[in-house]
Amino acid sequence: MAKRQFKAESKRLLELMINSIYTHKEIFLREIISNASDACDKLCYLALTDDGVGLDRGDFRIEITADKEHRLLTVRDNGIGMDKEDLENNLGIIASSGSYRFKQEIGEDTKDTGVIGQFGVGFYSAFMVADHITVSTRKYGAESAYLWQSAGADGYTITPCERDQVGTDIIMHIKADTEEEQYSEFLETWKLQELVRKYSDYIRFPIRMEVSKTRKKEGSPEDQPEYETYTEEETLNSMVPIWQRPKSEVTEEEYHKFYRDKFHDYADPQRCIAVSAEGAVTYKALLFIPGATPYDYYTKDYEKGLQLYSNGVLIMDKCADLLPEHFRFIRGVVDSPDLSLNISRELLQHDRQLKVIAANLEKKIKAELGKMLNEDREGYEAFWKNFGRQLKYGVVNEYGRHKDLLQDLLLFYSSTEKKLTPLGDYVTRMREDQKFLYYAAGESLEKIDKLPQTELLRDSGTEILYFTEEVDEFCAQTLRTYQEKEFRSVLDQELEEGAKEKAQEAADAHKETFGFVKEALGEQVKEVKASVRLKSHPVCLTAGEGLSFEMEKYFQAIQPEAALKAERTLELNVEHPAFQALEAAVKEDPEKARKYAELLYSQALLIAGLPLEDPSAYTDLVCELMK
Ligand code: ADP
Repeated sequence: MAKRQFKAESKRLLELMINSIYTHKEIFLREIISNASDACDKLCYLALTDDGVGLDRGDFRIEITADKEHRLLTVRDNGIGMDKEDLENNLGIIASSGSYRFKQEIGEDTKDTGVIGQFGVGFYSAFMVADHITVSTRKYGAESAYLWQSAGADGYTITPCERDQVGTDIIMHIKADTEEEQYSEFLETWKLQELVRKYSDYIRFPIRMEVSKTRKKEGSPEDQPEYETYTEEETLNSMVPIWQRPKSEVTEEEYHKFYRDKFHDYADPQRCIAVSAEGAVTYKALLFIPGATPYDYYTKDYEKGLQLYSNGVLIMDKCADLLPEHFRFIRGVVDSPDLSLNISRELLQHDRQLKVIAANLEKKIKAELGKMLNEDREGYEAFWKNFGRQLKYGVVNEYGRHKDLLQDLLLFYSSTEKKLTPLGDYVTRMREDQKFLYYAAGESLEKIDKLPQTELLRDSGTEILYFTEEVDEFCAQTLRTYQEKEFRSVLDQELEEGAKEKAQEAADAHKETFGFVKEALGEQVKEVKASVRLKSHPVCLTAGEGLSFEMEKYFQAIQPEAALKAERTLELNVEHPAFQALEAAVKEDPEKARKYAELLYSQALLIAGLPLEDPSAYTDLVCELMK
């Protein structure tokens, strides 16, 4: 019997498969089972109109048998089957979309075999694990059955054979073990069970296999039981995925259990979002907001992404394109019959349908978080504790591209509410004449409370947002405004209209003193001003435009060599007795006045949480003045 040759491109693909160094060889089973499932689908569909089929939906099945002795792994289905022409057309050439795309993508670069497993390469992937494949098949309605046999790139034969049952057996002779690869594993029950559960759990037909089990021998005594092994056919897959079931029929506990099992989390999810979309793209999605921060969440080891299924078949474990960076904490699955199984990761990125799904999901997630914020503040605060920082990063990232989406979801600590508050609530509480959203940045709530600059505003009952994370100020700077109200730093910026003039007036009245202090401090400060924001404190330090002191500390910690410094302006409270003492000294004892100036500046640095250039000089100064 003359061997038939594969078409040129098929041959090349086959060679790639046979010599594959790809580590995920195991995906071959997924491919073979998918084909079997498709074949069942086809005959099942035919049965709707053709009584001759004689099978109901519940009669279809896929059977796996492993014969270790002969190293044969068989996947059998009672689907539509193939006739001679089908065999020739389907298994002789690569006409299928997936394989064709694969060929295009891989081009001439045969070295890059690493990409193989990322594709659905269909039937040919079996050659990654088998050195000889026999297909025994009989098509529904056909008279005769056929054997298709091939040992790889050399070609294949098609011969008539005896076979009563309609359907197909794919019989794979598993390769001998090598140093790198334990092919024998693919004949082990546990391995096959594992692979079916991993890749084909939601195939709609039962995948059956003889599984050997142990039981207590009948009649053996309870205290000294004897055991025997027996085999039993078992369905390996769970068939109906939880996301395909109507939401109203699934209990919360079922969702939670699914989440814990699937994503290996010890904690229940905080929220489940079930999505069922029809229209431009049809898909089901089941998303979860984790109830705890994964231990590696803020490290580079954490990989975002959703599990992607097509008709219950796993295509990708972590499809990153389905989630924007700012919602990277979401876990879940997406299942769409519109996605072809045969797409590579690269191709997926450009997949229009995928983009549509991703955009829809982003909206759903945002809506769910918004709902939680309004209806379950306590729950939202717990979420915020876990992932709030991520949302703030989201605002700052990409030059604020996503700020409109995220700004309503932010929480900051409020000086008047004494708890976290959304910006929307702050604006609602603003007095009619209040122009700005006030904030103060510092290391902790307690420290900010003690800052001299916050005192006056707080006394007047003005609400101040306390920023204690390094990203907070960047966040405010990126937002710039919220509901058309500008953000203002209580520490560094003008608090009200006309403040400048008022300060100027005060400074003019004490011109000599201010000039003296500036001269005494030299380059250490950019300016010395009269303050309109101080009440009981004599001094404070304010930063110029752009970099604040908290930002300076942040950069100092991560990038000390850059020596980034915020501009320093010393503000003096002309009403304070210390200022009056200074003024008197300027007139009577300039040497002493110099020391006072240094002292006040050092105090301002300390209050701002900035390091003193020379701490021992400072203590000397204090002691000297005590004399
Ligand atoms: P794809 O599944 O992407 O079409 P494959 O190489 O896996 O590519 O399969 C090629 C074709 O062979 C299938 O489209 C199908 O027509 C046929 N085929 C494969 N396996 C079976 C099977 N078990 N029963 C019937 N037809 C099959």
